Amino acid sequence: MKIKKIHDLYFKQFITNEELSNIVKTLAYQVKQDLPKGEVPLFVGILNGCFMFAADFIREYNGDCEISFVKLASYEGTSSTDTVKKLIGINEDITDRTVIILEDIIDTGTTLHEIYEIFRSKNIKQLKIVSLFFKPDVFRKELPIDYIGKSIEDKFIVGYGLDYNGLGRNLPAIYQLTTQPKMKNIVLFGPPGAGKGTQATLLKEKYQLVHISTGDVFRFNIKNETELGVLAKKYIDAGDLVPDEVTINMLKEEVNKNSDANGFIFDGFPRTESQAKALDAFLAEKNERINGMVALEVAEDLLVERILERGKTSGRSDDTDEEKIRNRFNEYNTKTAILKDYYESQGNFYGIDGVGSIEEITERLSKVFDTL
Ligand code: AMP
Repeated sequence: MKIKKIHDLYFKQFITNEELSNIVKTLAYQVKQDLPKGEVPLFVGILNGCFMFAADFIREYNGDCEISFVKLASYEGTSSTDTVKKLIGINEDITDRTVIILEDIIDTGTTLHEIYEIFRSKNIKQLKIVSLFFKPDVFRKELPIDYIGKSIEDKFIVGYGLDYNGLGRNLPAIYQLTTQPKMKNIVLFGPPGAGKGTQATLLKEKYQLVHISTGDVFRFNIKNETELGVLAKKYIDAGDLVPDEVTINMLKEEVNKNSDANGFIFDGFPRTESQAKALDAFLAEKNERINGMVALEVAEDLLVERILERGKTSGRSDDTDEEKIRNRFNEYNTKTAILKDYYESQGNFYGIDGVGSIEEITERLSKVFDTL
C-alpha cells in the first residue's frame, strides 16, 4: 500500500483506480438507464475537482450528450468553509433541458446547494445530481442526490481530480489523510558479503534503530533447533532462499516484538518482490512506510573472495563452499536485484559505492540516512 506526502500531510491509498473506474462505469450506466429514450442531457461538471471524473464519466456514457462546466471555489485547506466564492456560468440556453450535475464530492452540501438553486431558478425540464463521493456524516442540506458513486467516512481525500491546497489532483487513485509516520525504516540492500551486517551494527547505534537481519534470525533458530530452524536449514545450507511465506511471517513477528522502536534497519529483507510488497502492506497498516532502500554496490568477484575469507571464521557453512556462494549470487541476481527497480519506482532508491574502508562506507551511508 502506498503513502504519499503532500505539502505537510501524509495520505494513504484508499480507492484504487480500478475500483474508481468500476464506480464511474456503474454511475454512467444507471444515469443512461433512467433517462427516456432520445433524451440528450446536458452534463454540468463542477470544477475543478470533477474534471477527471467528468471526463471518465462521459466516456462511459453511451448516448448523445453535451457537457459544460461551472466553477465554484469553496475549499481552503482541509476543511469545508461556508463561503462560496466564485461562479463561472453556463453559456448554453438551458431552457427545457435535462441538466445533470456532476460533482466529485459532496460533504456539507453548501456548494451544491448554491448551484442547485441557480439551476432551479432557470426554466429547465429537470435537474439531477450525480456525485462520485458522498460524506453522509457531514451532509447538512435537504437536497436530493440522485446518484452516489460511493459513500465515505468524513476523512479528507485527494487524487483523481481532488486536491489538497492545489496538489494531488493528478494522482490516478484516491488517497486518504493519515497520521504522520513516526519511524525511520530503511532497507539496507546489497549482494551477499557486501557488508550490510557490519554497517547495520554501526548504524543502528548511531540512529537508535532496531536492526533485523533475517539471516541472523534464521541462524539463531537453527542453532536452537526450533521448528523454524529445522525448516530453514535445508534452504540456507544449499544457498537457496527460504520460502516467502515463512520469511514474511518471521519478519512480521520480529517487527511486532519491537513496536515502540524509532524504526528499523532491514538487512537481508526483502529479497523478493512479494516480500517487498508484503512489507509495504504490513507497514501501511501501522501508518508507517519504508523511507528508503540504501544499496551497497560491490562487484561480484570481489565479494566471492570476501565471503570465502569470512568463512574461515564465521562458522557459516554457506560461506565456505564456492558453489553454494555462487548459488547465493544466482538467487540474488534472479530474485533480489530487481528490487532496485521496485524502490526506484517509488523514488526511494539510493545506491552507495560499497568499496572502501568500513569507516568510509559508514560515512557514505550516514549521508543518505540523514536525509531519510
Ligand atoms: P544472509 O545472512 O542475509 O546472507 O542470509 C543467509 C541465508 O538465509 C540466505 O542465503 C537465505 O537462505 C536465508 N535468508 C535470509 N533472508 C532471507 C529472505 N529475506 N528470504 C529468503 N531467505 C532468506
